[in-house]
Amino acid sequence: MPKSSFTPSRRSLLRYVGGSVSLSGLLGTLGQALGAAEAPVRRMPSIFVGHGSPMNALQDNAFTRRLQQWGREIGKPRAILMVSAHWLTRGSTEVAVVSQPETIHDFGGFPRELNQMQYPAPGSPAVAAQALAALKSVNAQPSEAWGLDHGAWTVLHHLFPLADVPVFQVSIDYAQGGKYHLAVGRALAALRDKGVLIAGSGNVVHNLRATERSDALLLQASQPWAQAFDSAVTKALNAGAVEALADYRSLDPSHATATPTPDHYWPMLYALGAAGAGEKLQYPFAGFQNGTISMRCMQWG
Ligand code: ZN
Repeated sequence: MPKSSFTPSRRSLLRYVGGSVSLSGLLGTLGQALGAAEAPVRRMPSIFVGHGSPMNALQDNAFTRRLQQWGREIGKPRAILMVSAHWLTRGSTEVAVVSQPETIHDFGGFPRELNQMQYPAPGSPAVAAQALAALKSVNAQPSEAWGLDHGAWTVLHHLFPLADVPVFQVSIDYAQGGKYHLAVGRALAALRDKGVLIAGSGNVVHNLRATERSDALLLQASQPWAQAFDSAVTKALNAGAVEALADYRSLDPSHATATPTPDHYWPMLYALGAAGAGEKLQYPFAGFQNGTISMRCMQWG
């Protein structure tokens, strides 16, 4: 059988294009044909994942099993826009536009097995460009310097284990306060209608100086301040007290110990901002790890 008897070569395709139809017309027709074969675009929820210990990536526990089930409940998004506590920039919000994001092992002192883990999901420069357009008002910048940090891949490994959904990260401008992070989330909300899952990854209670060695999952925190702040956040979420949540110090005096720095709290505001007013809120998981880290997860929509 002669080689490529059924596959038009690039040269013959170009000859055809050079003949009677325009390139844009041909690409349009091809695009329509491909689009018709895809599932219809569904509005995706906005979620926040409490990520806790990086070791969760390797573990089989109540949290990781819930993430696996949660991913199946969500279904397959067209792309995932991830805001992780571990990508902090200063002075601008950055959007990763890489086509093949690197798995970043941004931690120390963990077993080799964790350092060797890969999450080979593709990036999505096209959807990242849509995010950049949506963030024009905050002058967001494209970045080729970031792949997927452990706040992203340790949970995506369980939520979408096939790594077949394109993922890209949006950074947290750490020079900004709560209102800004909420506003960026709001500006991204419309992407949900294009099948993009908006996901924040952090922990609403996170004080690494006050953690315990054991990473067992607990229903109740080992310290009253951790429990108090997690409860205050939940109460405000249930009441839809969005502005109070942006000003987290106003929620409860326990904030000083529970959230001494806001890096792990801010990602929640992106998911909250991307949620619609009065949209149904669920808590797919709640509990504590290492004694005081809140593993509370949220889903809007
Ligand atoms: Zn973290």
